[in-house]
Amino acid sequence: MKDRLSEEFLKLYGRNAEIFAQAPGRIEFIGNHTDYNGGLVMGVAIDKVVMVALAPRQDRKLRFGSIRSREVVEVDMGDLTPRRREYNWVNYPLGVFKFLKEAGMSAESGFDMLDISNLPGGAGLSSSAAIEMSSAFAMSSLFGFKADLKTLVRIGRKSENEFLGMPCGILDQGVSGFGKANSIVFIDCLAEDFSTYPLPEGCKFWLFNSTKKHALVDGFYAARHAECAEAAKILSAGGDERLLRAFSLEDLESAKAAMKENVYRRAKHVIEENARVMRARELLLSGDISGVGKLLTASHRSSQLLFENSCDELDCLVDLLENRNGVYGARLSGGGFGGAVMALTDSSFSESDADDVAIAYAKRFGKKPVVFDCAAGDGAKLV
Ligand code: ADP
Ligand code: MG
Repeated sequence: MKDRLSEEFLKLYGRNAEIFAQAPGRIEFIGNHTDYNGGLVMGVAIDKVVMVALAPRQDRKLRFGSIRSREVVEVDMGDLTPRRREYNWVNYPLGVFKFLKEAGMSAESGFDMLDISNLPGGAGLSSSAAIEMSSAFAMSSLFGFKADLKTLVRIGRKSENEFLGMPCGILDQGVSGFGKANSIVFIDCLAEDFSTYPLPEGCKFWLFNSTKKHALVDGFYAARHAECAEAAKILSAGGDERLLRAFSLEDLESAKAAMKENVYRRAKHVIEENARVMRARELLLSGDISGVGKLLTASHRSSQLLFENSCDELDCLVDLLENRNGVYGARLSGGGFGGAVMALTDSSFSESDADDVAIAYAKRFGKKPVVFDCAAGDGAKLV
């Protein structure tokens, strides 16, 4: 991948790249829409990445190239504002640059940049965090900006929240930053505390991408975010406003009469999901993978029925996977409303099992999902 990126960089800009960095996509293992509610979540960095290459320039221009469209978008360093919609892909690294500068990175001149990726975009695997974190690593290295990992993760999130207008929590950038091969990342989003645990041997991840496009920036995600905030406001009852993480099911039941039905159900999902994440961590540590698998599927059902961020395509995939041999559990992975289902399986689950699922799915929806297995890979790094 690095060789191909080097060649393309030379072809596009007529000189060699000097800095290379990569960052992975992630599976949301369990903890659905808990992150921006100050809750708990576990994610896994996968072995599919975005890699970026940079070379410094002498002038004050930032140039972003695309291998796919062969276009180069030029931005003046004095104008760090979001590009218009057709160049939205530029906004991911551009936002990171802007917030790195605000965090103290000194950059007097610009750069040429190009990226390459083997991570499907818009599938709920967080290609957006992967481009943000790989850019953050590459740019901070180019300009000699020494920041710890948590700072870079926060800058990635800030860029997505404020430059892209997507109100995500810390999960995506946190896992893309803190991921580790053969490990799972546990995040306490209130404390912004990241820890990793080894994954049990012999389990595998399969992804079934419905290819139904989720449209996170445009609506549903923000609507859920607002419903959770409304629930938290009612639960805080005029006192200091706290995030949903602070409340128990008992608190919720006492406030139920003051809430609209949809707001109640969103809060119930988040509060119960935090409990499932805690339980999943205990079961992982005690080696009870079947128990973890049941929690994964229970999480999906809660998304389906309470949070209503699933869709027929994802529900069908979970139905097909739920009771198959070798499958511990399955759930939508990420924001929802389309994207991918992930299954945690043992090593007996094979290509042909996955294909059976894909064929049954195609009978109903007319086309197969894109299926691949993946392993837990490393977080963002220079390469
Ligand atoms: P997800 O993060 O689940 O893949 P999003 O809708 O959050 O879905 O992000 C996808 C968007 O991220 C793409 O439409 C594109 O604009 C941007 N993106 C993803 N990968 C890259 C990349 N390698 N270079 C530039 N932009 C990218
Ligand atoms: Mg994203």
